[in-house]
Amino acid sequence: MAVSRLSLPQLVSCAASREDSIAPPPPAPAEVRAARRMVDSHGRVIRDLRLSITDRCNFRCVYCMDPGVRFMASESLLTTPEIVRVARVAASLGVRKIRLTGGEPTLHPELTEIIAGIRAAAPVEIAMITNASRLSRAALREWKAAGLSRVTISIDTLRPERFARLTRSTCTPADVLEGVAMCLGEGLTPLKLNAVLIRGLNDDEAPALAELARRFGVEMRFIEYMPLDSGRAWDSSKWVSAGETRRAIEERFPLVECGDDEASSTARTFAFGDGAPGRIGFIAPVSSPFCGACSRLRITGDGKVRACLFSTREWDLRSLLRRDSAGDDAIAEFLIDATWTKQEGHGIATPRFAQPERTMSAIGG
Ligand code: SAM
Ligand code: SF4
Repeated sequence: MAVSRLSLPQLVSCAASREDSIAPPPPAPAEVRAARRMVDSHGRVIRDLRLSITDRCNFRCVYCMDPGVRFMASESLLTTPEIVRVARVAASLGVRKIRLTGGEPTLHPELTEIIAGIRAAAPVEIAMITNASRLSRAALREWKAAGLSRVTISIDTLRPERFARLTRSTCTPADVLEGVAMCLGEGLTPLKLNAVLIRGLNDDEAPALAELARRFGVEMRFIEYMPLDSGRAWDSSKWVSAGETRRAIEERFPLVECGDDEASSTARTFAFGDGAPGRIGFIAPVSSPFCGACSRLRITGDGKVRACLFSTREWDLRSLLRRDSAGDDAIAEFLIDATWTKQEGHGIATPRFAQPERTMSAIGG
């Protein structure tokens, strides 16, 4: 993998990343609009919507949010009815799964209403990703009753002192693991765990984190560190490849590829060679980009449509949503047009890569 041979300015250049958030997307061809589904100019169909409901967070993970991060004004965030409307229109265009994300989605004061609204309006699976710092049995029960199907939880280290340094929070790994147990107890499954390894910080913990998959019978996924942090601290020397992570895990737990990943899946998944429960997933956007079968579209907390996590262009759906005269057909057409602009790939490991101005927490991971 050639990442280490590229210079940092090449990899983390933002010179070319002024984002166009004012103009509407150019119209997709008439036959594409007429087909009423979201398909891009490379033939990929959108089935999976990542809806960021807030950019706020109670953590400041070193790979995601700088301590001095500034959040968007509350009035710029989509309201609950606007979120539900977008979900309904997206489902009418073929979206089958909606993942609520952020920032930290559990900080949203109307999370239950958002879940219930989407459930009532759209025949989709509703998933959520969280840092698990604010979970309780009562809240999980409420969200499940409202229509939440499954949860993904982020956990990057099992060592309390490292956890504090990495997340810059007062939460502990034990709190997160309690959240894992609660989600399993409430049937918010299949549950997945996410970890980002950073060289010199937590890259020696791959086997210990992999062991969580065995302990809880869940999928533990390792995501390669991407240049999407607000501190712009990413550099290739801190990046740990999926291959290196896999080798470290296999020293303790031999793995067998499952071979049943959907083409659009972000992860390559493996079972334990000794038949233990649980699976290991590797999400390798840097070393093995999976753009070819991407089925995802993202909408930010302030209603910008991003056809790719790494788009340097985004489209302002919120203005349209707030225009009295805009009917659902206009929203649908906007989503179809925005999808048509989806870039072929993000090219992280190429000299032409430009880091988007928006960070992961402001896009929604
Ligand atoms: N706050 C929630 C959480 O942490 O799970 C949801 C939002 S967070 C932005 C979604 C996912 O993005 C997390 O699993 C996090 O580890 C991942 N993430 C954030 N910044 C990243 C980066 N620079 N590279 C790779 N993954 C990142
Ligand atoms: Fe917050 Fe999630 Fe980003 Fe950590 S990764 S700072 S928990 S949004």
